[in-house]
Amino acid sequence: MIVIALAAVLLALSVLLFLLMRAVLDGKEIKPTSCKPDVAGEIAVMTPAPTLLDLYAYFDWTETTTIKVYDHRADKLVDMDLEEYIVGVVSAEMPAYYAFEALKAQAVASRTYTLYSMAHGGCHTNPDADVCTNSKCCQAFSSHERMQNTWKNDYANNYNLVAQAVMETAGEVLVYDGKLCDALYHACSGGQTEDSEHVYANALPYLRGVESPYEDPMRTEDVALKTDALVELIAAKYPESGISETNVRDGIAIKKAYESGRVETLRLGKTTITGKQARNLFGLRSTMFTVEWTGDGIVFHVKGFGHGVGLSQNGANGMAKHGANYREILLHYYTGVSIASYGADGITENAAPENSANPFVPEG
Ligand SMILES: [Zn+2]
Repeated sequence: MIVIALAAVLLALSVLLFLLMRAVLDGKEIKPTSCKPDVAGEIAVMTPAPTLLDLYAYFDWTETTTIKVYDHRADKLVDMDLEEYIVGVVSAEMPAYYAFEALKAQAVASRTYTLYSMAHGGCHTNPDADVCTNSKCCQAFSSHERMQNTWKNDYANNYNLVAQAVMETAGEVLVYDGKLCDALYHACSGGQTEDSEHVYANALPYLRGVESPYEDPMRTEDVALKTDALVELIAAKYPESGISETNVRDGIAIKKAYESGRVETLRLGKTTITGKQARNLFGLRSTMFTVEWTGDGIVFHVKGFGHGVGLSQNGANGMAKHGANYREILLHYYTGVSIASYGADGITENAAPENSANPFVPEG
């Protein structure tokens, strides 16, 4: 009985794979009736990778939005399709080996982040551009050339995965109260994300701290500094602290921490700095840290990576591995949002039944 069921599942999967490969390679012949089919199982690997046009044909995607992208490496402004840009962003912002549903969640977050930024003045360093490819300004972005250099033999496989994640969510964005969200995200929260006002100026209702239970516990880091190096670092940046080798051990203490465990303020001798300033000063991955003195210096025990607001990429991967789909992931990390469609007519709110039945949304 089990063998027959298994054989049936395998047969169904191989038919699906065959159809998908034929459809993408020969897009004119087979088109699914729905614009976003629920493709289950493994993703077919095509070599070379299909172009976005192939995928558009397969997904029957007709909405196009052209955006102006400033390529900071080539120093030129290029017109690019929004979804094509999102493929480049997801490729650069999330490891392609992360779970497929996490890649889809990242695609929706990145698309929302892009459109929100465009609605708020676009790229800040290039007035003519909607976005740029510099991760210090806008989101990181990989061109095909960079993908090939980074992924080498895995290029076709990885490109297919990312492009499929983008196209399966094409046009989908996060909205709160009918408006686009500022869909911030970070690499790893350390187990608890942060309220937006603890990191940035605004308290946004959908950027609330939530638990992030399925993160890789190995994402911790110990940063050790010898006493003389520590004192030198502090004295150079904060001479008013009066920190010296004789008083440093009594001079450093965490004054206030947020509920999440992120440091709000740190006492440095006669002065006080914020957790963010401490993160910059000591080169820490996040503000979620504790301090410990050793025989010859200090050790910062750091959890997480990044600002901690919004979606945790590592946590999204963990949730996906525990069976969550991309919608459940997004509704977990962005409090009270809904998933809407963005197109020529603007934003259309989708009915999202998962809103009320998401087992991954904490109660209360
Ligand atoms: Zn920019």
